[in-house]
Amino acid sequence: MSHTAVIIEQGHHNVDETTQQILSLANSLGDETSIVIFQPDNANLSEKFTNLNCDQIYALKIDSVHGTTLPDDIVISSLEWFCKDKNVDLILITKSAWSLNIAPRLAFRNKAAYAHDCIDIKIQGNNLSCVRPVYGGNALAQISIPADTPKVATVRAGVGQISEKVSNKIVPVIELEPEIKAKDLRVKILKTVTEAPEGPDLSKAEIVVAGGRGLGGPEPFEKLRELARVLGGAVGASRAACDAGWIDHNFQIGLTGKTVTPNVYLSFGISGASQHMAGCSGSRNIVSINSDKNANIFKDSKYGVVGDWNIVLPAFTAAARELVNEN
Ligand SMILES: Cc1cc2nc3c(=O)[nH]c(=O)nc-3n(C[C@H](O)[C@H](O)[C@H](O)COP(=O)(O)OP(=O)(O)OC[C@H]3O[C@@H](n4cnc5c(N)ncnc54)[C@H](O)[C@@H]3O)c2cc1C
Repeated sequence: MSHTAVIIEQGHHNVDETTQQILSLANSLGDETSIVIFQPDNANLSEKFTNLNCDQIYALKIDSVHGTTLPDDIVISSLEWFCKDKNVDLILITKSAWSLNIAPRLAFRNKAAYAHDCIDIKIQGNNLSCVRPVYGGNALAQISIPADTPKVATVRAGVGQISEKVSNKIVPVIELEPEIKAKDLRVKILKTVTEAPEGPDLSKAEIVVAGGRGLGGPEPFEKLRELARVLGGAVGASRAACDAGWIDHNFQIGLTGKTVTPNVYLSFGISGASQHMAGCSGSRNIVSINSDKNANIFKDSKYGVVGDWNIVLPAFTAAARELVNEN
């Protein structure tokens, strides 16, 4: 009997599309499937979680004295306790900046195997097979983990299908009070400042408008924002643009940034280095504007314009605005 637990990011209190995709994946791997959520004090979660294909939801209740945003140490300590208490074989977490800090440390504490940024996970014989992109997305590695080894894996957002089968049973919500080790109580978060995002979440946007070093400065990003607003999309950037301080690193796409899988990925002044493509090659249609006809990004692009963004971007935005207004 194997037990797979899907962890919901601390501070999130619903099952979004990505979590549902991971839940479907979890159901194809183990006998027992659980969702784990960090429950704020006095929250009634049972009403929110209906029609889910899982055996139970574990709500980890953490004393409010530790604040509303939990330090990573407390999260890891709680999950370490949970995995042992509930005999968890496999932990699945969406790949995000948060899980990047949590997952490898949790794996270390539980002496578990760790697979990061998986795009597929399946049972193969007696092993769990995890597939993940390597070398900047140019190759896929298959990691085989024996069934009897505990495992922690992060899964790329947008991977997998949501199971159409809807459970009619009422999923029980089980409250647990995890034991937290004293050494994990050293940090308390006093205040969190979050930049108010404009438009859709970059990781889930259907249209992404991204800019690179070829834009030449921070001002052109305002023009990209304007186009994103017209199209209802999100703005992203290459690492070179972020490193230059033209836009915050939260918007970085690539190997060391976010992974995006939009319908349309519009790039302006981005060369298409493999580390950048690692974060956007899953896009359905890449459309690139670059003044260099030999730019690498054209190899992955469905449509390309060889030209100066100064000329193409305003014309593109005007045409998009006209089309949107017509409809
Ligand atoms: C370990 C590691 C991790 C990395 N992680 C990431 C990552 O997560 N994300 C990432 O993006 N990079 C990452 N990089 C950096 C990556 O290798 C590239 O350096 C970076 O992606 C280049 O950004 P860029 O395309 O904006 O700039 P450049 O490579 O300098 O390209 C600028 C492009 O703009 C074009 N251009 C210039 N002027 C104009 C104009 N007027 N109109 C139109 N086009 C114009 C040029 O022809 C050129 O193709 C990583 C590197 C390493 C080593």
